[in-house]
Amino acid sequence: MMKKAHHLNSASETKMKAIDLVSEYGLDALAAVLHETAKEKGFWDGEYSHDKVGNKLALVHSEVTEVLEAIRKSKGSENIVEEMADVIIRLLDVYAAMRNEEEILHSLDEVLEAKINKNKERPRLHGNLF
Ligand SMILES: [Mg+2]
Repeated sequence: MMKKAHHLNSASETKMKAIDLVSEYGLDALAAVLHETAKEKGFWDGEYSHDKVGNKLALVHSEVTEVLEAIRKSKGSENIVEEMADVIIRLLDVYAAMRNEEEILHSLDEVLEAKINKNKERPRLHGNLF
C-alpha cells in the first residue's frame, strides 16, 4: 500500500490522469498536481503566509459544510460525492503548499498508512463516548 516517495517535476508526469497518479505515485503526487492547478487559478497569489494557510483551511471547512448541505437538501449522489471531492482537493492543496514551504516534512502517503494501521489497533470509538 505504501506509495513510493516522489516529487513530480516533468510536464509529462503532471499530465497523467489524476486517478493514474494516485495508483502509481500516491496522494503526495496528486497533491503536487492539485496545488499547481490551484496556483495557476490564482488561489495562491502573493506571499505564502500562515494567514493564507488559515484561509485555505477555512475553505476546507466550507467544503465539508457543502457536503452536509448537499445531503440535507437531497441534492443527489453525484453532488454529494462532488462536494466530498472538493474537501479532498482543498486539503491536498494546503498539504502540498506546506510541503513546498518545508513547513511540514512528512509524506502524507506514509503518515496515512501508519495512521490507518494505528487506528486498527485502537478500542471501540477509540475509547471515547462517541
Ligand atoms: Mg464545493
